[in-house]
Amino acid sequence: MKCTAIVLAAGQGKRMKSKVQKQFLELKGKPVLYYSLACFEKSEEIQEILVVTGEESIEFVKKEIIEIYGFQKVKAVVAGGKERYDSVYNGLLACEDCDYVFIHDGARPFVTEEMIRRGKEAVLQYGACAVGMPSKDTIKMVDDQGLVVCTPDRNRVWNIQTPQIFGYKEIRDAHEKARTGDLSKVTDDAMIMEMYGNRKIKLVEGAYENIKLTTPEDILLAEKLLEKTVEKN
Ligand code: C5P
Repeated sequence: MKCTAIVLAAGQGKRMKSKVQKQFLELKGKPVLYYSLACFEKSEEIQEILVVTGEESIEFVKKEIIEIYGFQKVKAVVAGGKERYDSVYNGLLACEDCDYVFIHDGARPFVTEEMIRRGKEAVLQYGACAVGMPSKDTIKMVDDQGLVVCTPDRNRVWNIQTPQIFGYKEIRDAHEKARTGDLSKVTDDAMIMEMYGNRKIKLVEGAYENIKLTTPEDILLAEKLLEKTVEKN
């Protein structure tokens, strides 16, 4: 059985307000993207890695990340697209011959081997799965004026992270169907499977630390989290 990780690093990261794209910012001397690649490289569940990045960053990723850190499992670095779902789709087109795909945000450096293992187990049992954590905050649904409509039961509300894991053919078919419709509200691949696929998605525990680096404060937090990981090892 072949499992491929598609690691996304083609975002512009405008909310980071930095000249360098967030996936290439340095955390303790290494680019953000290094950390998730290192985790998939080490994981016994993953046979191949595919990196999706901006056309202009392909050489940088190959030379300054894959070569320098000696990642052996990276099969290809391909160009992403305008929106995240375009980048995922380009990644899917480039990894034909696999059974399961682990779609992961390169801007989430704290994915762990344990999460990958849990995800693999769940995808084998349920056919589709996403990593996430129960919400710590109360969530409110609002109307157009910002007036509260309802409060979902907090025990049933999760924050969704990546990796998200699917059978290759099923998620590719779902993406292909989705591309004929309106994708403007799509924010993750689980949503594409919910809307255009035939699988219920099992949620498995990620970690509260598995943050996506989005704004400048996230970099400070990530450095602290990294110090904690180094202390633990
Ligand atoms: O922009 P956002 O934070 O949602 O991005 C999540 C992940 O998707 C990041 O790792 C980013 O690099 C990636 N992405 C991409 N192609 C895009 C937009 C985002 O690969 N067009």
